[in-house]
Amino acid sequence: MILVFTCECGNRVDFHAFGDRDEHGRQWLESEDDDRLTLRRGEDGVVFACTFCKETYRLQAGN
Ligand SMILES: [Zn+2]
Repeated sequence: MILVFTCECGNRVDFHAFGDRDEHGRQWLESEDDDRLTLRRGEDGVVFACTFCKETYRLQAGN
């Protein structure tokens, strides 16, 4: 699986699943480049922060 993040500024980061799994069998997604995108925990989900233009995106996770 590949998840692609593309910022409005054009900064693009691919997340790859390399087959590593946690104790529930779920695959870990790993960023190809931690220097271009920062993931932070938000109030109710995840915040993507572009390190190029400093734009931030909030992704709400389930209850
Ligand atoms: Zn950006």
